[in-house]
Amino acid sequence: MALLDIILEGDPRLRQRASRIRTVDPSIRRLAHDMRETMLDAPGVGLAAPQVGILLRMVTIYLPADFEKDGEPEHDYTLLNPEIVKAEGRVMGYEGCLSIPNWTGEVPRAKRLTLKAMDLEGKQVRLKLDGWIARVAQHELDHLDGILFIDRVEDKSTIQEIPDEDDEE
Ligand code: ZN
Repeated sequence: MALLDIILEGDPRLRQRASRIRTVDPSIRRLAHDMRETMLDAPGVGLAAPQVGILLRMVTIYLPADFEKDGEPEHDYTLLNPEIVKAEGRVMGYEGCLSIPNWTGEVPRAKRLTLKAMDLEGKQVRLKLDGWIARVAQHELDHLDGILFIDRVEDKSTIQEIPDEDDEE
């Protein structure tokens, strides 16, 4: 297992467009594995390759079952070259980001998505996502185009620092 360093806002690599993955070779599988370990260790619910300084179109997402007390099943995906095929509805919600630690803000997102992507076997997959998992997917896909959630916040007064419990004396 290898934990990767998560780069932070201000690093120019977070502002670049990531490249498509042509073939799933052992280096891609290893990156997927390491990204997943890094995400779970952080802990976070999603991580995109540019956040570990790799400008490739790969995201990993893990939401445990019933994450938002909404009865949703577990969601566990590693997606290569993901694309939004269809987006419907609009919902507001607070987001955070492992590359902008301890900050949150209210972001509008589509409520429902249909995505297409390649999996780690190199097969095309199609996913229908609704609710919180759709939000997580949109946040992670944005990273592949150099977009951060703070760019999407409409009411900038909702951007707030979350008190860090470790800093309390
Ligand atoms: Zn993020």
